[in-house]
Amino acid sequence: MLEKIYIGSTNTCNLKCRTCIRNIWDEQDTFISEQTFANILKNIVEISPLPTVFFGGFGEPLNHPRIINMVERLKKSI
Ligand code: SF4
Repeated sequence: MLEKIYIGSTNTCNLKCRTCIRNIWDEQDTFISEQTFANILKNIVEISPLPTVFFGGFGEPLNHPRIINMVERLKKSI
């Protein structure tokens, strides 16, 4: 049973912690695309029972310019 889904909305962050893994990686700054989020949303509602959805990963999820919209759409879908 799938209990939790993590959606990494972005790997960017507004902080610069000295101990952050971001100090040693060379990944590009990325933001989840509308298409990817729409695909995730479409498939989440088909999972039974519904899993917990956590917006997070490496980076600050609130850094995504559409994070409020994504949370609203997810909440309306379930
Ligand atoms: S991702 Fe976490 S550890 Fe890294 S800079 Fe941001 S808040 Fe700090």
